[in-house]
Amino acid sequence: MPSDSNIRPEDALTAGLKQLESQGLRRALRIVDSAQSPRLTVPPRDVLNFSSNDYLGLAAHPALVQAAVHTAERFGVGSGASRLICGSLRPHHALEEALASFKGTEAALTFNSGYAAALGAITAVIGKDDVVILDRLAHACIVDAARLAGAKLRVFRHNDLNDLERMLKWARSRSDAASAPRRILIVTESVFSMDGDIAPLSDIAALKEAYGAWLMVDEAHATGLFGTRGSGLVEEFGLAGRVEIQMATLGKALGSSGGAICGSRALIDWLINRARSFIYTTAPAPMAAAAATAAVQLVQSGEGRGLRDRLWALVEHFKTGMIQHGWPPPPLRSAIIPWMLGEDRLAVSWAGRLLDRNILVPAIRQPTVPKGTARLRFTLSASHAPEDINRLVDAMNGIRGLDERDSSHA
Ligand SMILES: *Cc1c(COP(=O)(O)O)cnc(C)c1O
Repeated sequence: MPSDSNIRPEDALTAGLKQLESQGLRRALRIVDSAQSPRLTVPPRDVLNFSSNDYLGLAAHPALVQAAVHTAERFGVGSGASRLICGSLRPHHALEEALASFKGTEAALTFNSGYAAALGAITAVIGKDDVVILDRLAHACIVDAARLAGAKLRVFRHNDLNDLERMLKWARSRSDAASAPRRILIVTESVFSMDGDIAPLSDIAALKEAYGAWLMVDEAHATGLFGTRGSGLVEEFGLAGRVEIQMATLGKALGSSGGAICGSRALIDWLINRARSFIYTTAPAPMAAAAATAAVQLVQSGEGRGLRDRLWALVEHFKTGMIQHGWPPPPLRSAIIPWMLGEDRLAVSWAGRLLDRNILVPAIRQPTVPKGTARLRFTLSASHAPEDINRLVDAMNGIRGLDERDSSHA
């Protein structure tokens, strides 16, 4: 690459943006003028929203809003300082107690985001002599955290237990060498964020025990949705005592914002002392913590069970509708339904044509997913109506019909 020392910084960046544009990879923000719900005001239009992670419709739920308002009235809106200085407000402690009991762990610690939780937890427990083994589709925050920790990073084929075991054997064999790894950490998501499929958690837990590794499970897309209490797939698979680090986000099904790590009292005390993204940052807004606490309670109530039942019925309704029209069957049991298109530009074109019909579905491209696997990502919410789903299926069929007519004329 030629040196760009004579080019103005803005011009260098503009050239970079043009290149992204020409590859169909340039992204831009879209202003939304309404609360999260199946209908969004995205001026100049109103759209039907199939892009949110607000799976249970809690982001604007009155119980959460009320908890936030009451807490703002009592604690104000700012936390004033980091948790270790004077920002460790009662609402944060109440949330952490609620999360520990929800997740079936001794303790919990909250962060400003799920991203910050992953960064803080992994860099606190892992150092440069350690090995981190990740599923190939693990979220960017996990990859970034493992890199920042300076660990030896290995990536196993998606949900492939043989490949994982091969890497565990390799990591263990190093234990006999002078450069013995102190610790091996396996990290996986439970529901994968862009594919909506599920990790074989029981088998992964058995492998980590056989090889003396630790296991971290990112439940960003499972918290609130699976298990009897609704706490996630770790609960559903009965693995709470066997997963060293459970990670959750508070901003998806729980409708608020923030991230959490749940685990042993020793783990949480270690993170309070060593997780830099916890220590060197202002504590989250107390009202966000209060809203999340209300969500944790709601999810475990009869209303929460009702919302989950409703969501799964809508997912079935969507799948049945698509299959009836000859679309291939989407993955089982997930509110994330990917529609594979391959080329980045093709995904962008489909998303654009859905938007022309006032339906908002994101085109997911590299680097979020590997090259050649661009897709539409439908997410459903308990607050959708069956008619909303019908409109989506009709729009997909309408677009496909136009394409077929075009190609038969070609
Ligand atoms: C969204 C997400 C995160 C990050 O959580 P935030 O609270 O949004 O920062 C982490 N992991 C996965 C799998 C996610 O989908």
